Amino acid sequence: MTSLSRKVAVLGATGSIGTSALDVIARHPEALRASVLAAGGKVDALLALCEQHRPEHAVIADPAGYAALRDGLRERGLSAQAHCGDEALVELVSSDVCDTVVAAIVGAAGLSSTLAAARAGKRLLLANKESLVLAGELLMHAAHEAGACIVPIDSEHNAIFQCLPPAAPGQSGGLPYARAHAGLKRILLTASGGPFRGRTRSELTQVTPEQAVAHPKWSMGPKISVDSATLMNKGLEVIEAHHLFGIEGERIEVLVHPQSLVHSLVEFVDGSTLAQLGLPDMRTALAVGFGWPERIDSGVAGLDLLAHGRLDFERPDLDAFPCLRLAFEALAAGGTAPAVLNAANEVAVSAFLQRRIGFLAIPALVEDTLAALPSTPASSLAVLREADALARRHAEQAIGHRA
Ligand code: NAD
Ligand code: MG
Repeated sequence: MTSLSRKVAVLGATGSIGTSALDVIARHPEALRASVLAAGGKVDALLALCEQHRPEHAVIADPAGYAALRDGLRERGLSAQAHCGDEALVELVSSDVCDTVVAAIVGAAGLSSTLAAARAGKRLLLANKESLVLAGELLMHAAHEAGACIVPIDSEHNAIFQCLPPAAPGQSGGLPYARAHAGLKRILLTASGGPFRGRTRSELTQVTPEQAVAHPKWSMGPKISVDSATLMNKGLEVIEAHHLFGIEGERIEVLVHPQSLVHSLVEFVDGSTLAQLGLPDMRTALAVGFGWPERIDSGVAGLDLLAHGRLDFERPDLDAFPCLRLAFEALAAGGTAPAVLNAANEVAVSAFLQRRIGFLAIPALVEDTLAALPSTPASSLAVLREADALARRHAEQAIGHRA
């Protein structure tokens, strides 16, 4: 029996992480309740989730979907209140209709709501890595000030969190782990290598969106699947790890581990290395986020190491996958560079998925945008949003010139 009682806002409820979060929530009806469900544009999918999970509030980002959401709720006899837009979401996340927030909107579109959850001091199950890449310092500072309990919901960062000692009382704000831990020597982030592992650069010219989203180990949304194929996902995760764990880029190493069973490792100054292992299923990380420090059932089976037999590790190929190098460089440059990297990448990935550009144009566009918009100090959220907007404009124009 657990003593947990959480009212959860699931942002990005119709997505891959959102669906996994709702699966874990449904396993614990006494302890966990979805009080807010929010999605981007799929009204029918959101209505189906409302029918199943009976939230008090349902939010659709796209204003064009509001009437259909409101009427659909009424027709189904559901009492959930309909809302639309980012402002409504920020208001709900900041209010006491929820004490826990699953931030699983994809891209920079998730920044305001993620930041609102941090500022309101919620338990924040943070999957929206782009918000950390874009505004990591501000987000971590806001969480610290408000005592928000951030649990990373990226398999690698969740693994690292589980390997780190708990925060001493009053030391890390509300963080459940010791940030900038003195005994921490290095972080080893594992990467599956994606669907194109082992290919050379020239073998990547013709790959299609279908091939890029067919991830060998994880089932995820289209954007992060393409990011995994370019290794930009690992690059974003390096920046994410820097902010979450207070460690500089030089002490973060990436290892390709094709079995995706070791989710990451932490090396301490005494020579010890700790790792967290498990099947590649995000419900484990989500259950850790909901339960911590308790352990609750996630629906994921345990790991049968004898059945798997081997664990392999390789160095990433930065020539075939330059996005990882670009992310390390953006982290080293600091200031607005990570925001520019992220924005250019979002534009490039979306153009690739729409078949407007080829696969290798993704790193080329990101590199070109970073060169065109040199880093300036990231003094405020407004400066970061401006850098994000400029980078999007630059990348769009560059795509126009290519066509
Ligand atoms: P997805 O594409 O499956 O789902 C995205 C969700 O965001 C959908 O519910 C969509 O409706 C919603 N959304 C999109 N734009 C929105 C907007 N403007 N306003 C409100 N909602 C909006 O993506 P996903 O794979 O679930 O990934 C979500 C986030 O979690 C990403 O930041 C991703 O990097 C991160 N993440 C995902 C995984 C995974 O296994 N899928 C693992 C680690 C981290
Ligand atoms: Mg990950």
